[in-house]
Amino acid sequence: MVEIRNVKKSFRKDWYALNDISLSVDKGDFVFLTGPTGSGKSTLLRLIYMDIFPDEGEVAVAGFLSSTIKKHEIPLLRRRIGIIFQDFKLLRNKTVYENVAFALEVTGESGRKMKEKVMKALALVGLSHKRNEFPYRISGGEQQKAAIARALVREPFILLADEPTGNIDPEGSMEIVRILQDINTSGTAILMATHDVELAKRVSNNSVHLEEGRMVEG
Ligand code: ADP
Ligand code: MG
Repeated sequence: MVEIRNVKKSFRKDWYALNDISLSVDKGDFVFLTGPTGSGKSTLLRLIYMDIFPDEGEVAVAGFLSSTIKKHEIPLLRRRIGIIFQDFKLLRNKTVYENVAFALEVTGESGRKMKEKVMKALALVGLSHKRNEFPYRISGGEQQKAAIARALVREPFILLADEPTGNIDPEGSMEIVRILQDINTSGTAILMATHDVELAKRVSNNSVHLEEGRMVEG
């Protein structure tokens, strides 16, 4: 599903943000990407959703290759990937429902089918009762649930999560992780970046650790 082969990525001369990274994520996997701030976690996720491209090596995602993908194909790739961030990135002037619906509107979906999908995604994260609230009226944990629903509504094969619990209290964080586990159990692969090694250990025995752009043991 996702395969990263001997990837190097540099943003400046004589220094690699990622240095010889190889990693694969398969159907049903829940993989943690751990490492301190600046170790290259977000850079690795950006390579997977092809926001940036490797200097050396190759990234293969859902049949697309970093070396041959065309610019117009990138939105097609992104439709198949769900992405959530530490700061949620919800649209402020739209309700929870509208935020989730918008992710489908841009794919051309509308009508009753769309409404059903949105309601299903909101139910999955336990946010149906807050569907008419604006993001600033709900907690951080609830905003992240809305962001998860928005990512899920397109039925991605993988969900990329970049420090999804970074702005949420410990209790709310565990709830988010539990939702991600549910999503994983129903077949969606998850790749979650976090600096919280303890959290990763508690949840999964499948983790990759980065230090200064290199993969290290433990
Ligand atoms: P993490 O997500 O683990 O905190 P990042 O992937 O964001 O780490 O960053 C890894 C390293 O690459 C850091 O030293 C960061 O400053 C650098 N970096 C990331 N993106 C850029 C960029 N666009 N331009 C220059 N340096 C960058
Ligand atoms: Mg980061």
